[in-house]
Amino acid sequence: MEIKRLLANHDGIIRLFWIKAHAGFSGNERADEYAKQATTKDAIDIELAFDIPFVKKLLKKELNRLWQIRWSASSKGREVFALLPTVRTTRIQGDFFINQLITGHGAIGLHQERFFGKSSSCSCGQQLEDRTHIIYYCTKWAHIRKDYFPPNHHNTSMDLLLFNKKSRQGLRLIMEAKLKDSLQKTE
Ligand SMILES: [Zn+2]
Repeated sequence: MEIKRLLANHDGIIRLFWIKAHAGFSGNERADEYAKQATTKDAIDIELAFDIPFVKKLLKKELNRLWQIRWSASSKGREVFALLPTVRTTRIQGDFFINQLITGHGAIGLHQERFFGKSSSCSCGQQLEDRTHIIYYCTKWAHIRKDYFPPNHHNTSMDLLLFNKKSRQGLRLIMEAKLKDSLQKTE
């Protein structure tokens, strides 16, 4: 710290050199000696300021922790929470069709009934058309499931289907077909 102060207050030119360690340079040997002595101290008596990247990392971590607490405790968006319980800044869902499945909003009977007073039934005859019905059971989309989902998809959770490239494509096709189907229904 004393050396740092001297350097900062000096007016002239100062040159700094790299020198080989443990090669008999007296100043360097002394610095080593002091460094070794410092490791035997019980208390830390010099505190260096944190650097900016470290502070940023700390703040990001804290922000994430608070965000997670709010997301877990919230009463809103619970359909999304069921699929994406862990918050993450790197995940962006920008797909029109997939987003309807994630949020449970959009061309899904249950949502149409809850928000627009329309029928909650599916055009296949099922009384309640919700996310689960569309993804796993509706007979109208069996052909898409067969091509894109794994054979055991009934036992595969929605989030696994969502984050697998091929089954995600299937989910997208189902929602696309589903939307067309809904539009025809209302015509
Ligand atoms: Zn159906």
